Amino acid sequence: MQDIDYDKAEYVTNRELENDEGEKTGRVKMFSYDNETFHYQLKCPYCGHQFEGSDELGSRPWWIECPECTRSSNINRIKDAAKKEVKKRGPDGVDPDDI
Ligand SMILES: [Zn+2]
Repeated sequence: MQDIDYDKAEYVTNRELENDEGEKTGRVKMFSYDNETFHYQLKCPYCGHQFEGSDELGSRPWWIECPECTRSSNINRIKDAAKKEVKKRGPDGVDPDDI
């Protein structure tokens, strides 16, 4: 996976994914520079398979299917995650209201 240029990224998320039991056994990193093509790296919460790719994602909710077990993970609330990332960057970051 390529390094994320946080200054150019419109969306960045990095969070855990829960399986059916609510256990956080998976993880997704996802970012986009143009809000059209999203690059992601995902660890499937159901089978532990790790994969990455990029996709043009349309309207939400977004689902990414695991090529190993064909279960789909819901990648919603990416905007909320992006806001948190920005806030963590401190006063030099982008105003969260601009996102
Ligand atoms: Zn899987």
